Formats: sequence, C-alpha cells, structure tokens
Amino acid sequence: MTTHNKLVAGFVGVGVMGRHMVRNLAEAGMVVQVFDVVPEALEALPRHDNIRLAKSLPDALSGADIVITMLPDTPHVEAVVFGEGGIVATLPSGSLFVDMSTISGHTTRVLAEKLSERGITMLDAPVSGGPVGAENGTLSIMVGGDADGFARAHPFFKAMGETITHVGAAGAGQTVKLCNQLICGINIQAICEALALGRACGVDLEQMRDVLLGGSAASWMLDRLGSQMISGDASAGFRIDLMFKDLRLVMETAMQANVPLPATALVTSQYIDARAHGEGGNGNQALFKVYDRMTAQDRERSHGAGA
Ligand code: NAD
Repeated sequence: MTTHNKLVAGFVGVGVMGRHMVRNLAEAGMVVQVFDVVPEALEALPRHDNIRLAKSLPDALSGADIVITMLPDTPHVEAVVFGEGGIVATLPSGSLFVDMSTISGHTTRVLAEKLSERGITMLDAPVSGGPVGAENGTLSIMVGGDADGFARAHPFFKAMGETITHVGAAGAGQTVKLCNQLICGINIQAICEALALGRACGVDLEQMRDVLLGGSAASWMLDRLGSQMISGDASAGFRIDLMFKDLRLVMETAMQANVPLPATALVTSQYIDARAHGEGGNGNQALFKVYDRMTAQDRERSHGAGA
C-alpha cells in the first residue's frame, strides 16, 4: 500500500548485499520496512527518512507493495515464506513477492506454484555484481516469473540494478544465475592457475594482471579480484561458503538435467578443500590458498624468491 504516494517495500535480509539494496530503494524515494533476524544487521543500516526498522517479520511485510528477500540459502527463504508471521501467514491475495537470493530453482518453482494458489505472485530475481554492484545500484538482475509481476516490480529493480532482464517463467532467473556462477567459479580457478604458474616462473604478477586485462584473457574476476589474489588478501566479499552453496546448486541442477559439467565439478572440489581448511568465511578470491597448498608455496617466501 502506498503511503503519501510513496511505494512501500518490505525487505528481509540485510547482510553484505541487502544493506546496500535497501539504501538504494530509500534513495529512490521508496519507503523500506526492513527486517533481519540479526539485530546488528539492522543497526548497521544507514539512517534515512525512508528506512523503517521493523519490529518483527509481519511488521516488515504489513502494507507493502512488494516484499523482497535477500537471504543466504533455500531454507532461509522457505522459513520466511512458511514461518510464523511470514509471507503465507501475512500477505493478502494480490501481493507481490520477489526473492533476490540465489536458491534452488526447483524449490523456487514449488514456492511460486504454492503462492499462486493463494493469489500471491512470486518472482525469482537473483543478482550479479557483488557488494560493489549492490552499493552502486548497478546490479545485473535476472528475473523469472510472470510478465505482469515483472512490470509491477520493475520500478524497484531500477533502483537497485542496471541490467534488468525477464528471462522466462518461474525458476528461469535462478537457472541463469547458476550459469553465471559456473562461469565465475571456473574463471577464478583459471586465474588461480595462471597466478600459480606465473609466480613459480618468477614474473611480476601485478604487471601480468595489467597486461592480461588489456587482452583476450580480461575478465570481471581478474579486474576486481586479481590484486587481492596476488597480495594474498583473503578478506571477505562474496564468501567461499556462499559460492560453494551456488556450485552445489549448479551440480544438483546438472544431475537433474543430465548435463555433464566436468570443469564445474573440478572447481567445486577446490571449494570443498578450502572449506575443509576452515576458509569458508574468506572471500571468494581466497581460493588461491588452495593453490598455495598445491604448489607448496609459502607466499612470503615465493614473493622474495620471485623478485
Ligand atoms: P549475508 O549472509 O551477508 O546476508 C544475509 C542476511 O540474511 C543476514 O543478515 C542474515 O542475518 C539474514 N537472515 C538469515 N535468515 C533470516 C531470516 N529467516 N529472516 C530474516 N533475516 C535472515 O548474505 P549476502 O552476501 O548478502 O547474500 C545474500 C544472497 O545474495 C545469497 O543468496 C547470495 O548467494 C546472493 N549473492 C551474494 C553476492 C555477494 O557478493 N555477497 C552476490 C550476488 C548474490
């Protein structure tokens, strides 16, 4: 329901991504009613007249023109849909729910079907672009679901992203997102291999990155994560745990569709190795630590030796 002619969004999940998306919605003139199970996540939000911290989940959903979730994984979205005071319990028929998390495409289709029986339209609208894309409002948003729902959600998408594409029926957004993650994962692996080889042969890795970015090996990953990989900066951005979750979803989907993905299977095992060494909370770029182990290279020693 609009308040004083302002559109109202109920927003659930304000972690690394959601906190920026909420600010962009507020700055675009929408009222955002925000809920997160972690109070610190709510307290970390910027102060803005259009941002209202909800006292509970139903408080965030109440009277909203759209409900948006930005949650870690499939069970969290199911909890917000079916849990106490959640979407099924609170939203009236005719409501619009958009899940922008990366979750199972199969579960997405089941949820969309069940909600449609209650007159609630669900879209899946996962994103790409990372925290920087979320902060700058330049996310790529891939949307599955019905065209009418897409049109209703479009003003909200425009506040958060730049490339906004309706890619098909329920679940299609998640399929495209998983293809995105497959490419990202294999690309990170390729960069790790190139850096491990370059390092072992003693070349200046920053110089190598610069020249590669001007040629056909250039990529988003090399551009945004290359320097962190070279310097050994494992600090979190997109966490290894979340990327592993995405690769697991890719592999599950591939099994169901009977499509062999040998390169993705290999990369997934590198992520299992990283998690087994307690590195799940590191940023995605920290897959280089697996290569440090594989090449038995101590980073400090090799930097000295390669100079
Ligand atoms: P995050 O873990 O930083 O944030 C998720 C938030 O959801 C947390 O604050 C958590 O407390 C909250 N939460 C969990 N369960 C909840 C519940 N039941 N009710 C209310 N709040 C709940 O995750 P993130 O990095 O912001 O990612 C969110 C989603 O976006 C994931 O599916 C991820 O795969 C996807 N994604 C992340 C990135 C990235 O670079 N971080 C990029 C693209 C897509």
